[in-house]
Amino acid sequence: MQIKISQLTNVYQNGKKALDNIELNIGDGMFGLLGPNGAGKSTLMKILVTLMNPSSGKVTINDLDLQKHRKQIRSMIGYLPQDFNTFPKVKSWEFLEYSAKLAKIPRNKRLSVVDDLLERVGLFDFRDRFANKLSGGMKRRLGIAQALIGNPKILIVDEPTTGLDPEERIRFRGILSEMSREERIIILS
Ligand code: ADP
Repeated sequence: MQIKISQLTNVYQNGKKALDNIELNIGDGMFGLLGPNGAGKSTLMKILVTLMNPSSGKVTINDLDLQKHRKQIRSMIGYLPQDFNTFPKVKSWEFLEYSAKLAKIPRNKRLSVVDDLLERVGLFDFRDRFANKLSGGMKRRLGIAQALIGNPKILIVDEPTTGLDPEERIRFRGILSEMSREERIIILS
């Protein structure tokens, strides 16, 4: 996989310039975006996952233009937003099952996909717990499971470990580094 970003600029409606002429090539493996609050990390991620159009510039993913092939590109991307949340009164497995449905995983495969994801992020034993009652760290891991539905070639994770205790931080990073051993780009802030 190859992401090419050229002359990418984003100015918000209030005139705030969040990205200024970014040039970046990203290949397989783990790629970190480092910078203080307000540096523009989330803005760049939202553009990459096609939630937002940049003011100007170009992004290609394996030579596909991000603006022209949104649907195809979306099917390659898993995204864990900074403000990931679930719904009340929904069990962890049900949340993933619903996410799998939205990702158009066929009905007869959904439950095995969900079980596999729960195993991968260490939440299988908590599958019947309401998703909004999980601890902060567990919720982030559920978010990773949700982002991994469909085995995306690009995984974008916004602010992965804020508010987690050290043990959860290490665990979360362990899961991500395991994912990066497969042929995949992982971008995290
Ligand atoms: P980071 O993720 O690095 O903290 P952001 O991408 O969230 O940075 O923000 C970059 C800059 O753009 C900040 O100055 C922020 O205040 C501004 N910004 C972010 N979102 C908006 C928005 N919707 N409207 C106006 N300004 C915004």
